[in-house]
Amino acid sequence: MSKPILIDPLKFAREGRSLSGKLPVGGLDERVHSDLSDTSGEVSYQLDGSRDELQRFTLRIRLTADLRVTCQRCLDGMPFSLDTDSVVTLFASQEKLDEACEQDEELDAVLAEPELDVIALIEDEIIMGLPHSPKHDECSRDTLSLAKADKPNPFAVLAALKRPKSE
Ligand SMILES: [Zn+2]
Repeated sequence: MSKPILIDPLKFAREGRSLSGKLPVGGLDERVHSDLSDTSGEVSYQLDGSRDELQRFTLRIRLTADLRVTCQRCLDGMPFSLDTDSVVTLFASQEKLDEACEQDEELDAVLAEPELDVIALIEDEIIMGLPHSPKHDECSRDTLSLAKADKPNPFAVLAALKRPKSE
């Protein structure tokens, strides 16, 4: 487990602070790992406090990482370059947050607790940035023939390949 990185988000934004670094993927929470085929590598983060045109405090969070996700067709690993850039808007009260979200459905709003764990924020962003149903352009033949070994009809295999995502 990575040690939490705690900030006071409102103060961080008000003072226009920045924070950047790298975290080993292996130290992130299990809920991140469950979407990955392995947990090697690290994620680079850049966090910038600011305020938007409505004078609301914001945190901009940018992430890059070379990850491996699981192909949903052959269940083998495949590389995925994560590259996200998002802004969360901070609100001092739930009431103000609800009001703002009603006016702007796209708003990524967070209630500004006195302490915010930057790592938890990064984990949330990774999960949202991962592909929903990743698939190789072409799965390797070895893996496929293993996966389909119990199906004798080659046309069934072809049909399965052509079928749009089934969930
Ligand atoms: Zn595949």
